[in-house]
Amino acid sequence: MPPKAAKSKDAAPERPILGRFSSHLKIGIVGLPNVGKSTLFNTLTKLSIPAENFPFCTIEPNEARINIPDKRFDWLCQLYKPKSEVMAYLEIHDIAGLVRGAHEGQGLGNNFLSHIRAVDGIFHVLRAFEDPEIIHVDDSVDPVRDLETISEELRLKDIEFVDRRLEDLEKSMKRSNDKQLKIEHELCEKIKAWLKDGKDVRLGDWKAADVEILNTFQLLTAKPVVYLVNMNEKDYQRKKNKFLPKIHAWVQDHGGEPIIPFSCVFEKNLVDMPEGEAPKYCEANKIQSAIPKIIKTGFAAINLIYFFTAGPDEVKCWQIRRQTKAPQAAGAIHSDFEKGFICAEVMKFEDLKELGSEAAVKAAGKYRQEGKTYVVQDGDIIFFKFNVSGGGKK
Ligand code: GDP
Repeated sequence: MPPKAAKSKDAAPERPILGRFSSHLKIGIVGLPNVGKSTLFNTLTKLSIPAENFPFCTIEPNEARINIPDKRFDWLCQLYKPKSEVMAYLEIHDIAGLVRGAHEGQGLGNNFLSHIRAVDGIFHVLRAFEDPEIIHVDDSVDPVRDLETISEELRLKDIEFVDRRLEDLEKSMKRSNDKQLKIEHELCEKIKAWLKDGKDVRLGDWKAADVEILNTFQLLTAKPVVYLVNMNEKDYQRKKNKFLPKIHAWVQDHGGEPIIPFSCVFEKNLVDMPEGEAPKYCEANKIQSAIPKIIKTGFAAINLIYFFTAGPDEVKCWQIRRQTKAPQAAGAIHSDFEKGFICAEVMKFEDLKELGSEAAVKAAGKYRQEGKTYVVQDGDIIFFKFNVSGGGKK
């Protein structure tokens, strides 16, 4: 029997995360028209996991699922030589162009905004390439103005939502003295003031109880953002672009979320090259695809992590939301594992890599037994013990 783990510092309470509590989270590509969204999405589609790998669900045409590259996974597969290998993936949705005035229904406005509501994070594509052939909706290339346009549209939509909520709450408060209504009303007033001040909800310092209420709203500006700056291949290769410093300054002033420079056209050309040509081209031109970084950053931005199960039958990544406790993580494998949860036997990937085998990890006393309150960490290798009789019906 492995030693019982000392009370883990990992279990320290962290503030709850804004957003849905689910392991089926997705990220949407958002941006003004003609910034490169469709080109990016089509490229991602070509790189995506074939639909037959998901026999029990339909994959919509505006959806791509891309594997998360991970050296730890590759190493585990080398070690166990399993019959089946299953990587983690990021689900990406293509959301067509937003324009100024979308919150009032301009363009296909409200439709697009409702598509943004359905995703858990945003890849905000910015145009930092100049090309007189490709028109810009606002006539000139100015990514900072575009950032303002989109973030303002999202904020205005959130204000509209909060206003409606306030109205409903006021009606209910006339009929009832429920304390909860008052608490929610106060919070909505706070959110409204915050938004009117030009600030996004995700950047606020909300209390845990506020986050619980906020998570029932799914506000657009509560969603994490990764900025993808689309530039021509030459700029991307030399890591210089005249708009980049200004974009950087703006983002620093607005929450400092990740910025990833990339070149849509380069990425598209790369996937379209005949087999074997892409690595040669990258080597010769000293350039690398930004897609792996985009995928990994997007996955982390929407608060997903994964743990591994590993053995000769299968090495598999199980994706869960950050802060998930062991029984719920077990539930990602099967609901019976959660219902009949006894304990999680956990190895750290680094320990296994350093010591070389499960037996060596056990001998070193680093194979730990964790209970119900253990917060699963990214890269944990877990074997769950569960009680079948507690598992109810199969
Ligand atoms: P969307 O409206 O944001 O989906 O934009 P698209 O992906 O349809 O791209 C609009 C046009 O810009 C297309 O003709 C693309 O080929 C072109 N485009 C995208 N990225 C670049 C780039 O980095 N440089 C140049 N010159 N053209 C690009």
